[in-house]
Amino acid sequence: MRGALGGPRVLLRRLREVMAEQVSAQERLDKIVVLIAANMVAEVCSVYVLRVDGTLELYATEGLNKAAVHQTVLRSDEGLVGLVASEANPINLSEAQNHPAFSYRVETGEEIYHSFLGVPVLRAGNTLGVLVVQNRARRTYTEEEEEALQTTAMVLAEMIASGELSAIAKPGAEPAARRPLHLTGMALNEGVALGHVVLHEPRVVITNFIADDLPKELKRLEAAVETMRSDLDVLLERGEVADGGEHRDVLEAYRMFAYDRGWVHRLEEAVATGLTAEAAVERVQSDTRARMLRATDPYLRERLHDLDELANRLMHHLLGQDYAPARDRLPENAVLVARSMGPAALLEYDRKRLRGLVLEEGGPNSHVAIVARALGIAAVGEITNATGVADPGDAIIVDGATGDVHMRPSPDMEAAYVERVRLRARRQLQYLALRDKACVTRDGEKIELMINAGLAVDLPHIEETGAAGIGLFRTELQFMVAATFPRTAEQFSLYRAVLDAAGDKPVTFRTLDIGGDKVLPYMRNVEEENPALGWRAIRLGLDRPGLLRSQIRALLRAAGGRDLKVMFPMVATVEEFDEAKSLVERELTHLRRHSHKLPEQVEIGTMLEVPSLLYQLDELLDRVDFLSVGSNDLVQFFYAADRGNSRVADRFDAISAPVLRALKVVADKGRAHAKPVTLCGELASKPIGALALVAIGYRSFSLSPSAVGPVKAMLLDLNAGKAAALMQPLIDSPSGSLPIRERLKAFAAEQGLQI
Ligand code: PEP
Ligand code: MG
Repeated sequence: MRGALGGPRVLLRRLREVMAEQVSAQERLDKIVVLIAANMVAEVCSVYVLRVDGTLELYATEGLNKAAVHQTVLRSDEGLVGLVASEANPINLSEAQNHPAFSYRVETGEEIYHSFLGVPVLRAGNTLGVLVVQNRARRTYTEEEEEALQTTAMVLAEMIASGELSAIAKPGAEPAARRPLHLTGMALNEGVALGHVVLHEPRVVITNFIADDLPKELKRLEAAVETMRSDLDVLLERGEVADGGEHRDVLEAYRMFAYDRGWVHRLEEAVATGLTAEAAVERVQSDTRARMLRATDPYLRERLHDLDELANRLMHHLLGQDYAPARDRLPENAVLVARSMGPAALLEYDRKRLRGLVLEEGGPNSHVAIVARALGIAAVGEITNATGVADPGDAIIVDGATGDVHMRPSPDMEAAYVERVRLRARRQLQYLALRDKACVTRDGEKIELMINAGLAVDLPHIEETGAAGIGLFRTELQFMVAATFPRTAEQFSLYRAVLDAAGDKPVTFRTLDIGGDKVLPYMRNVEEENPALGWRAIRLGLDRPGLLRSQIRALLRAAGGRDLKVMFPMVATVEEFDEAKSLVERELTHLRRHSHKLPEQVEIGTMLEVPSLLYQLDELLDRVDFLSVGSNDLVQFFYAADRGNSRVADRFDAISAPVLRALKVVADKGRAHAKPVTLCGELASKPIGALALVAIGYRSFSLSPSAVGPVKAMLLDLNAGKAAALMQPLIDSPSGSLPIRERLKAFAAEQGLQI
């Protein structure tokens, strides 16, 4: 059998020279195919490039008919070349014509070649083209030759991705590498962002692919693997989390793979073909990504993800680059693109320049999504391979309401969104004009609108919205975004900052609501079959009172000389409330004894989130200073439908007779006991929800800050008496064909209300 001339390393070195030459793109490609053919002793070497229309165009060939260049265009599922592209896997055949996928184009004069070796041109797991060698003889290409051709394809991938080929492409048939992409994921936070891609973990740009000194490259690889392993060991030993909130089990998985011989062996093999250590990592990473994108087994996908992440770390170790992005050098209108991100990491970016967030992972309840909402940036999750298809600086549009992401959008698409952003801005201005207006309905009913908050970044919202205060301060958010347990001093300083920011306006602090879906990455999680119904919130606080007591102390001290309102989450019985209240009283006594400055007044209330409280209202209202209905949890338990599960989300409506009847009883009883009742769940943050609630007697709400404008605009136009008159018969005897929601919509249309 004929051996390769000079071997892969000579080829790579020659390629490097060609890449550096000042020639046109076509000339460069022509030289590359000649070089490869000669080096691999192949009669044919051809480059096919994937185009925006999904077809594969012959861009250069040595050996096939030259007239076919830029003329032969294959469908993406056509022939062996199509198969290599669609599977992103090499095909190596000594008798190509026996393969069921074989098809040939007369114009290429290809029929006389028997052996075929085709490899995908991959970048970050995406197919950009196909590189083929062919021989007349029935030849078996060795594994080394296959490896060498894949390595060569990397050089081509960089050339295609650089955009150099656009100059020789036909209009409308440009290489797909830079094509506009429309991707759809999960809406995490509404808003539209038009901006430019910033990769949260910048892709390392490799400038040196070709190894000058193989043993040295192997040593570099070995050293980097060692450092990476010991870093992971240290992180796990310290029991902390890295990079703002990585979970322990994720790190454990990384460590397992970091010690996996198979993975390291593949890296070493890639170096042996003549690559530098970093180019070897990229090769292996790109293959992993390609498999990841095609894997359907979720377990396998997750493992491939781990490998991909590990390769990323290794790359940074190799190049001595900080494993952190340029947080302080954000461009204007930055849109962050990340595989996943901890909430603390997001908070480190310059808020003024950040417009949007796109994640490959991350559901609506993820901590990073909570922070995105607090920051008010458009956010979309579950975008497969977002980091693989986005390049830094690319234009991007994020539609956080629909979950659409447009990468490198067409001018038409961009114009459409510019118009939407303009409309939105106009609406925001209208809401702003309402900011200082008293919130009173047309028929003179005063409605109190407060905001929900939980992080220091939320505080400017009080001023921006003109809200009457903070009706729900979710203290757990500080714990959720931290990498380690916040000390009492840190809690104290946040609470004081919150009270300072609120000034004369009231703030209701809710004690820690952790457990269930609110996981602290640094706290060992107790495995529970039904976490939403498990050991969470006040249950955890009462069973392990140390944490709750120190929080209460921080609250009491932070409110020294001012009013304090405290409430407890997930209370299910009056006894639980009594027990929790007695903790506050004990702390008060303790502080008094130590002559600390005490709050002027302490009001103690509870959330109403568990349906059992609906049947203890009289006893409860005798004890509490106020009630706050948490409709998110109340409705989930009411209908036994997980609030985070989209499969059941549409089965039940909160604006329905059973829920509204229950909520009306709460409002009525509150009034009878002369105890304030407010509602702080998402139901009040939708104008139609607020309409239903006013109609059954609610006069106080705590809303997401972005909802204050739209809800207030609706309320100012509302006649509350008319709404109540419409609603009463609907919830008393919900007959008739139209559901209550539809009746309310019709009422709103008739009354000219924006809902
Ligand atoms: C609720 O359950 O309605 C609520 C406001 O609390 P959270 O959303 O924080 O559970
Ligand atoms: Mg709740």
